[in-house]
Amino acid sequence: MEMMMDIEKMKQEIPVVKALSAAKEVTWINPKKTDMETAKTRISLTNEDIEDVSARLKRFAPLIMKLFPETEDRNGIIESELSEIPQMKEVLKTVYGADLGSARLFLKRDSDLAVAGSVKARGGIYEVLKHSEDLALEYGLLSGYDDDYTKLASPEARAFFGERKVQVGSTGNLGVSIGMMSAALGYQAIVHMSADAKQWKKDYLRAHGVTVIEYAGDYGKAVAQGRADSDADPMSYFVDDENSKALFMGYAVAAERLDGQLKAAGVTVDEEHPLFVYIPCGVGGAPGGVTFGLKELYGDNVHVFFAEPVQACCMLLGLATGLHSQICVQDAGLTGQTHADGLAVGRPSGFVGGVMEPLLSGEVTVEDAKLYDYMRELMESEQLFIEPSSCAAFEGAVQAAKSAEIRGYIEACGLTDKMKNASHIVWATGGKLVPQPVRDVFMGTHL
Ligand SMILES: *Cc1c(COP(=O)(O)O)cnc(C)c1O
Repeated sequence: MEMMMDIEKMKQEIPVVKALSAAKEVTWINPKKTDMETAKTRISLTNEDIEDVSARLKRFAPLIMKLFPETEDRNGIIESELSEIPQMKEVLKTVYGADLGSARLFLKRDSDLAVAGSVKARGGIYEVLKHSEDLALEYGLLSGYDDDYTKLASPEARAFFGERKVQVGSTGNLGVSIGMMSAALGYQAIVHMSADAKQWKKDYLRAHGVTVIEYAGDYGKAVAQGRADSDADPMSYFVDDENSKALFMGYAVAAERLDGQLKAAGVTVDEEHPLFVYIPCGVGGAPGGVTFGLKELYGDNVHVFFAEPVQACCMLLGLATGLHSQICVQDAGLTGQTHADGLAVGRPSGFVGGVMEPLLSGEVTVEDAKLYDYMRELMESEQLFIEPSSCAAFEGAVQAAKSAEIRGYIEACGLTDKMKNASHIVWATGGKLVPQPVRDVFMGTHL
C-alpha cells in the first residue's frame, strides 16, 4: 500500500521535522516515552529472551575461544571495557561549555570488541551462532545444549557449514562481524556492501576469505540485492539487519555485562543515582538492542538518547513522524550521506522504531565536522581512538549538559537535584580495526 506522504504538512505540524529537514542539529525529547511498567505491556520481548541469549553465548564460549584466541582472557565471552574518561569530561566543559558537574563520565568501549572491532560483534556474531546452533542440532552435529560445542570446529562440521552460505547487506561493520564469524565456522560468507563502505573493510574481509559484492547505490540497495540472492538459494541464510530479532537480542546482553562493570566502578543506579546513556544510531538494531537490555535492567532509572548525523537521522525522522520505516531521510530532503559510515542509513528499522517508542528518552543530531573534533579530543585527552561514527555519542553528553530540551526533560523527571549523583556513558561503537594510515587521515580531517 502506497502511503500518501505530505512532508510539508509534517514540517508545519512537527517542529523537529522542520528543523531536521533543514539539516540543523537538533535535540529532541521523545513525547511517546512511557514509564517502564507501561512500556512492558507494549513490548513482546522479555527478560527471558535476554537470558536465553546469554545462556547461548556461554554455551558457545569454548568454541569462540578456540576460533579466536584473542578472546582467551575473557574465556570466550566477547566483551569490552568500561573506562572512566575524566579528562574528556573536562574537554566537554572547557571546549563546548557542557558542564556535567560532579557526575561521572564513562566510555563503553565496544569500539574494541574482539573479532569485529565494533558493537556489531554483539548482534552479528550472536545471530551467526544462533543459526549455527539451530543447524547443528537439527542435523545431529550437536546432541543437545550440554554437548561439547568445540565439535563445531571439527573438519566434519566445517565441511557441513561449507556447503552453506551466510549473506548480509552492510555499510561495513555488520559485514565485518557476520563475515568474520561465518568464515571462521567454514560457511561461504557473502557481504553485500554499499558505496559508503570503506575500502579497508572490503580488503579486510577479502583477506579473511569473505566474498564482498559492491554496489554503487546506498545501503538499501545492497540489502535488497543480498536478500534476493539469498532467498533464491535454499542453502543460504540471510541476516536481515532491519527486522532480525536475533540480531537485536544479541545487543541486549550488553546490559547485564555492563551492570557488573558499573558495580566494580562503584556506580549505583537507582532513583537517587540516574544513568544517562548516549549511543550512535544507524538502522537502529545495535542501539535499540542495547537500550532494550538497559531498560529491562534499570527501568526508569536509565535514560537513553540516540545520536545520528544531520543528513542521516532516519530513526529520529521515523519516531518523530510515527511513520518509522515508512519514511526515509530522502523524503525529508536530506542526502543520507555522511562521513559516519556506520550511521549512513536512510531508512530506519520499523521493528526497532516500534520497540523504542515507549523506551527512548530522545535523540540528538550532529554535524560530521564535530565527529572529527570529538575523535581528536578523545585521543588527546585520554589516548583512546574510536572511529568518527562512534563519536556521535559525545553530542548526547554535550546536549545533556547544555540543551534546554534535555534540561527540561531532567526537570520533568524530577532529576535536577540528582544529576550531581548521575553517571553518563558514551557508547563507543567502533574503531579497533581501523588501520593506522586511515586513522592518520581521520586525524587530519577538518570539515
Ligand atoms: C552499525 C553501527 C552503529 C549503529 O548500529 P545500527 O544497528 O545500524 O543502528 C553505530 N556505530 C557504528 C560504528 C556502527 O558500525
